[in-house]
Amino acid sequence: GPSFDTGTIRSALEVYKEMVLLYVEEARRFVNSQCAGLEPWQIIATTLLSTLGAVWLKGFLFQPESLTSRVKKQFFKIIRKIPFIGATIQNQLNKALDDMSMSLCTLKEGMSYTKLLPAQGLTHKQLFDKIREYETLSEVDWAKGKVSGAVYWGDEKLTDLLVKVYGEFAWSNPLHPDLFPGVRKMEAEVVRMTCALFNGGPDSCGTVTSGGTESILMACKAYRDMAHERGIKHPEIIAPVSVHAAFDKAAHYFGMKLIHIPLDKKTMKVDVKAMRRAISRNTAMLVCSAPHFPHGIMDPVIEVAKLAVKYNIPFHVDACLGGFLIVFMEKAGFKLDPFDFRVKGVTSISADTHKYGYAPKGSSVVLYSDKKFRHYQYFVAPNWQGGIYASPSMAGSRPGGIIAACWATMMHMGEKGYVEATKKVVETARKIKAGIHICVTMLHTQPGVAEQFISDVKREVAIIMKNPKEKTTGMGAIYGMAQSIPDRSMVAEVSQGFLDCLYSTEVPKIQSKHHKNHKNHLNGNSKAH
Ligand SMILES: *Cc1c(COP(=O)(O)O)cnc(C)c1O
Repeated sequence: GPSFDTGTIRSALEVYKEMVLLYVEEARRFVNSQCAGLEPWQIIATTLLSTLGAVWLKGFLFQPESLTSRVKKQFFKIIRKIPFIGATIQNQLNKALDDMSMSLCTLKEGMSYTKLLPAQGLTHKQLFDKIREYETLSEVDWAKGKVSGAVYWGDEKLTDLLVKVYGEFAWSNPLHPDLFPGVRKMEAEVVRMTCALFNGGPDSCGTVTSGGTESILMACKAYRDMAHERGIKHPEIIAPVSVHAAFDKAAHYFGMKLIHIPLDKKTMKVDVKAMRRAISRNTAMLVCSAPHFPHGIMDPVIEVAKLAVKYNIPFHVDACLGGFLIVFMEKAGFKLDPFDFRVKGVTSISADTHKYGYAPKGSSVVLYSDKKFRHYQYFVAPNWQGGIYASPSMAGSRPGGIIAACWATMMHMGEKGYVEATKKVVETARKIKAGIHICVTMLHTQPGVAEQFISDVKREVAIIMKNPKEKTTGMGAIYGMAQSIPDRSMVAEVSQGFLDCLYSTEVPKIQSKHHKNHKNHLNGNSKAH
């Protein structure tokens, strides 16, 4: 058969070289002929202007926000300036905002806002009378298992214990370990116990944070600083599109770019091939959720970890939601693929003690496979006038009482307690698998709750199906409307209105009757889970 010897290859190369030279010569002649009639200043000016133009064009095209998104924004901005249309949109928007403040900020008959400090402090009795009044505002019976997620337990005995423990440490602050050595020991132990649950090695470590969002922010901050040190100017986070919005927040706060990877339509797990294609010189970290918030699915940690090892990229597993369930699944009798530090390539994990860890709100843990990662999380101001200032996470002072309560919960639950809770939660979740996915907590494992939920859903669906075109009102309507608006900046505007609402001390002007049914669609974080 035909074969090439080195001679053939060499002469092929020569031909190639000659062709290139030919083109270069042609280009030279072309440029010279174009410049033939020009004076030197004209050539210099043209060169200068086109260079500046190219720099401007590059700056215009390549910005953190994509060109399409910017063009869209500009387009909608213009539409809202058109006289009649703009006013109509603004009216609709105001209506949505009013509706929202009705749903969220309506007081009971005769109630008003306190706007000034009471001149004379209230007595204990007066204070508790007031508190009862505030408690009447709530119309959602979460304690009876009437919401998805949001409250993960709230057992009375556990609450009593936590309140006592908080009381003991109410004034403590881990910023001063010399004053509060007990709280320091507790935080260290919470981290160590959690490392052990996720099968961390002897070098594994972490910190306690104020919640899942802070845990995620801290991991992203650590990997951003690592990327900067490696000379990456624009670090990128590569994460499934199902990942928690805290990663958007991290990207926003820390000047990173979040690249969303689509899901496999069948399994709703991240498309690993697409993830591999998105890896570039700018990649600072890979992310998986175990499981993710929108659908409760575990991403393929093992496969993504292989990418992390191959390309030497840090890999964060977000187990904020289910971390304290999945580590007990095996002992509770449910099989799961490995998702933690047993998987080579996993460099950090976030897990919320204040979700299925059953600790009170305000605590979470971020873990690293090695101390070198944690150092990038720390902040040190060596030259502060108040002294050398070093803090492990976002906050300066931190609530020692919350850490103590978190520690007490873990110690009180013990492995047996968590395994039993996990068994109950998973069994209840499987009972409610009528095609609905709700976030099942310990509150749903109470007798009759699952049955009642299923029958309620059946009844409500029947009512809706009788009259499918009926208008929704309140928060439900706003959610629905927001889904269909192409102008996302308007959704942002409504959401800002929502956050403003939370700080409102004005009684809404219009009173509406039908807002009540939709009260529980939003909570303080605009997401009820
Ligand atoms: C709840 C949650 C977070 C964020 O936690 P917060 O405690 O609300 O800040 C992050 N990731 C997932 C998957 C979550 O469910």
